Amino acid sequence: MKIAINGAGVAGPALAYWLLHYGHEPVLIERAPALRTGGYVIDFWGAGYDIAERMGILPRLLDLGYQVEEVRFVDANCRRSGGFSTDVFSRMTGGRFTSLQRSDLASTIYAAIEGKVETLFGDGIVSIEEEAGGVHVGFGHAAPRDFDLVIGADGLHSRVRSLTFGEEAGFERFLGYNVAAFELTGYRPRDELVYVSHALAGRQVSRFSKRGGRTLFMFCYREKEPAPAPEDDAGRREALRREFAGMKWEVPAILEAMDGVENIYFDRVSQIEMPRWTKGRVALIGDAAACVSLLAGEGCGLAMTEAYVLAGEIGHAGSDHATAFSRYEERMRPFLADKQAAARKFASSFVPETDFGIAFRNWMMRLMVIPPVANFLVGELNDTIDLPDYEAA
Ligand SMILES: Cc1cc2nc3c(=O)[nH]c(=O)nc-3n(C[C@H](O)[C@H](O)[C@H](O)COP(=O)(O)OP(=O)(O)OC[C@H]3O[C@@H](n4cnc5c(N)ncnc54)[C@H](O)[C@@H]3O)c2cc1C
Repeated sequence: MKIAINGAGVAGPALAYWLLHYGHEPVLIERAPALRTGGYVIDFWGAGYDIAERMGILPRLLDLGYQVEEVRFVDANCRRSGGFSTDVFSRMTGGRFTSLQRSDLASTIYAAIEGKVETLFGDGIVSIEEEAGGVHVGFGHAAPRDFDLVIGADGLHSRVRSLTFGEEAGFERFLGYNVAAFELTGYRPRDELVYVSHALAGRQVSRFSKRGGRTLFMFCYREKEPAPAPEDDAGRREALRREFAGMKWEVPAILEAMDGVENIYFDRVSQIEMPRWTKGRVALIGDAAACVSLLAGEGCGLAMTEAYVLAGEIGHAGSDHATAFSRYEERMRPFLADKQAAARKFASSFVPETDFGIAFRNWMMRLMVIPPVANFLVGELNDTIDLPDYEAA
């Protein structure tokens, strides 16, 4: 089948990889003019890690990864006020855990299909008309084309979702935070392999030293009502200056160094909840279908898992896409619902609302040196999903 996939982030190229494997013809459509580089760092483990291994890309991901050693909370005077050794993640996953730039994960997956899958960069699906036996798809720039199936892998603010299922507001569950991230070159101080965070009631700034003299900064703050992100970098800088004014530690220096920074990531922290992920010949995967949010620490791995299962079901069902879609939903929905619920449970302690809450969280984190307490606080890290072996099926 000829299958249009809107979005070449993590889910889209992973799906293209597996569809190609089963003899289908995927076409990727990506809004950005090229694959992104740099950006925020993700934790990578669980079912997604297993799938990366099946794709043969795990050694490359481990080369690109950072084996983070410590999460450290600091006070206004740069003194350690809490934190924990990340040994706990390694112990709980049998060493199958790494952290890497999301863009490095996305480009490694893409490298596995480059030259084998047509990609339209700088474009996007703008209309979807289902007809007998196929779908007529319109693009922002390219001429319209016909496909057998259309897949939305276009993230939290999916266009395929709004075109097929309705407005985003009907499916978005806002978790009460905004998040922003950007990177700087040459920032000092550096702490190699340590994730350093400073928080005040409802606000947290973190930094992580990357290779090449770069430092990633992540800002997270509480917000009562969901609002659109400022449209451009100037607006984003202004919002961060307003929200983080008066904070101490390194925050004044970071806000000053932010001048002139481009491509600031800025978004609401939200989940997507939908009664169905498929309709006719259209299906959604990754954040477009069931965004778990950064609070799950596993959105990329889950996006890869959904891609693996959807492609496997399509590969298995031949041209019977309706059966493939319903098996995909059956297998994945309970697993994703559990992941979303766990992330929501963690939301209140991610950046506590009061200074007392922050002090309490930092103190609790000190107990992570006791393995059973650490296991309890981190929760279950081993994914329970039984990944089907579609080759054997
Ligand atoms: C700050 C932060 C920290 C995170 N930490 C972690 C973590 O530790 N571990 C983890 O696993 N996950 C983490 N996540 C979540 C993770 O990044 C996402 O779950 C994952 O990227 C989802 O993959 P995706 O392919 O579905 O969507 P995306 O990665 O968002 O990719 C969507 C793609 O679609 C493209 N696109 C969007 N709209 C259109 C359009 N209209 N037309 C064409 N193309 C379009 C975009 O340009 C993009 O390339 C974090 C997220 C954030 C924001």
